[in-house]
Amino acid sequence: METPLRADCSRCAGLCCVALAYDRSTAFPFDKPAGVRCRHLESDYTCSIHSELSARGFSGCVHFDCLGAGQKVTALFDGRPWRDEETLKPAVIDTFRRMRRIHELMSLVAEAGRLPLGQGQEQQRTALLNALEGVANRPLETLEAFDRSTLPGEVRRFLEGLRDAALEYASQSRDGTRAVPRTAGRAHT
Ligand code: SF4
Repeated sequence: METPLRADCSRCAGLCCVALAYDRSTAFPFDKPAGVRCRHLESDYTCSIHSELSARGFSGCVHFDCLGAGQKVTALFDGRPWRDEETLKPAVIDTFRRMRRIHELMSLVAEAGRLPLGQGQEQQRTALLNALEGVANRPLETLEAFDRSTLPGEVRRFLEGLRDAALEYASQSRDGTRAVPRTAGRAHT
């Protein structure tokens, strides 16, 4: 699979820092509505408190990973400044929402490759992954067709059908016959 499923904030225009909402909690120190820029986002799209996020109460940012959707959407819009541009902002946020969903589905289907799948299941998994990758790399205008397509439902049904393989995997992990790779952490740059 060509599409990286990990955030690369160095190539992103701070999409999550504007597009997403968060509530005051143990993970965030104040409320922020969706579409409003975080007060710590600098004009060059860097975070002014990045080195002290946890200490300042932003563990939610430390643990968030857009799975590569942020840099993808930034590239789709050619890195145009969008935060305060009211005409461009809704389109960027909407595209980011869609791309996150596609990348989340890609990540789930990719992770399913760790399970003890039958040949037919593996073929289906590969086909779904290729189809999702194709959508993620389509031109911007055609992305919105994804929501109306049959692909999200196909992925959901495929994942729902993996219960037995997941149970087998869990039992092998428990009895020590399978090495369980650690989930990679996020490199928030
Ligand atoms: S986590 Fe994703 S959306 Fe947020 S700044 Fe990093 S690359 Fe951009």
